[in-house]
Amino acid sequence: MIRRSNRTSFTLLLVCFIVLQSPSLAQDRRSGLIARGSVWETQYYVTDSKRPGPAVMIVAGVHGDEPAGARAAEQIRHWTITRGKLIVVPQANRPALQNRTRRMPTLPKDRSDLNRNFPKANGETPKCMLSTALWALVSSHCPDWLLDLHEGSDFTQLNNKSVGSSVIAAQSTEVKKQACRMLEALNETIEEPDKKFVLKSPPASGSLARAAAERLGIKSVILETTMKDQPLSLRARQHRIMVHRFLTDLRMVSGDVDVLVGPSDSDKMIHVALYDAGGVGRKGPTELEKDLGELTDVVVRRVGSPEIRSGVLKQFDVLIIPGGSGSKQARALGTDGCRGIVKFVENGGGYVGFCAGSYLASNNYTWSLKIIDAKVIDRRHWKRGKGRVKIELTAEGRRLLGNEPGLIDIRYANGPLLAPAQDPNIPDFKALALYRTEIAKNGALEGVMKDTPAIVAGRFGQGRVLCSSPHPEYTDGLESFVHRAVRWAAGR
Ligand SMILES: [Zn+2]
Repeated sequence: MIRRSNRTSFTLLLVCFIVLQSPSLAQDRRSGLIARGSVWETQYYVTDSKRPGPAVMIVAGVHGDEPAGARAAEQIRHWTITRGKLIVVPQANRPALQNRTRRMPTLPKDRSDLNRNFPKANGETPKCMLSTALWALVSSHCPDWLLDLHEGSDFTQLNNKSVGSSVIAAQSTEVKKQACRMLEALNETIEEPDKKFVLKSPPASGSLARAAAERLGIKSVILETTMKDQPLSLRARQHRIMVHRFLTDLRMVSGDVDVLVGPSDSDKMIHVALYDAGGVGRKGPTELEKDLGELTDVVVRRVGSPEIRSGVLKQFDVLIIPGGSGSKQARALGTDGCRGIVKFVENGGGYVGFCAGSYLASNNYTWSLKIIDAKVIDRRHWKRGKGRVKIELTAEGRRLLGNEPGLIDIRYANGPLLAPAQDPNIPDFKALALYRTEIAKNGALEGVMKDTPAIVAGRFGQGRVLCSSPHPEYTDGLESFVHRAVRWAAGR
């Protein structure tokens, strides 16, 4: 047996435990750091059920331009484990994740791909500081299983140069059998035959999974989602589905595949669901995450239609629907998804819509959610143009969004022109800001947009709805509008 031979005093130096007890759960949650004090320092989490069972390690974020695994692992680490032990390293390679690069910044090319830096032969040592630290962590825990979460650039069935949408199993019948179980669970959710996941083997030489299998006898698998034309929420969910099936087969998990925040998240935090799927423009979610990333009491999770339909909003205080196309968003969400959002707000949830998200919340399209008493006017000229406009906060707006006197420059991109809908079932909205200049291209008449409400807020059931027709999230200097909108919608 070679698996214990790599335990060295190195382990003690690199692995430092911080014990965080969670008294409400029948399990221990601890976290620690590897590569402590270096630029590679990163956190890992151990959930110990205190019941005999397998030890499973999940590693993600080895390649910095493959974000879905890191997102999924950050969610999975909160899951409740019913037997055995779960060890999660959500952001193995933090500098590369921050840089959004596959390779480790600052290292020469022959050592900069972390997933080629693990021992290729017995007696070989890892090739860099971070692989040494990760290897020490793996060796010290000696898990029965190791899952390494990655992403490919394209669907492997359509382009065999990429490993996207595959599960790459180390060479053993038991590992391959388990890998097929994960594929089965996931492929049930994928309609297009060419996009279904397939089994591959073995992992590349020098990869963590290959080294763990060959040097330490650990049953190892790499999970690869596909980045091409698929929202991050979908890819993270695909990782969750595979890991959930795997842990279910091992009788290690209780709870749903769409548990995105855990009991260990503080109640004082504001949990924000950020919709990034059908009908959403490319940049919005990233900009909003950047803005909200400045707040230490806000947890943001990307969500798509399947999670919303399965009731994930219960875990959140606020839903944000970014720009794009309101009608396409409604179509992607489907009747059940739209109904889910309406119920969420009715029961006390917050809703913040930007541009398309405001069209979606409005009152007078067949696909409208009708959660704010505002109708869209001059619908025929919705494509009235993009550019900078000036808005002015009302007294209510200054109370809610911050005391900004005078005219404010803001990005506008075909946002809705709003007016009271006078729906007797919905309380009137309050205008927080008015357009003071306008854009009237593509046949739109001048004088229609000026002085109409640009940002409005209202109540719906127990919940709060804020709709912004222009884009503070695309306007430097207006980050505080996004912060305050979310806090208000959360009732804070
Ligand atoms: Zn990768």
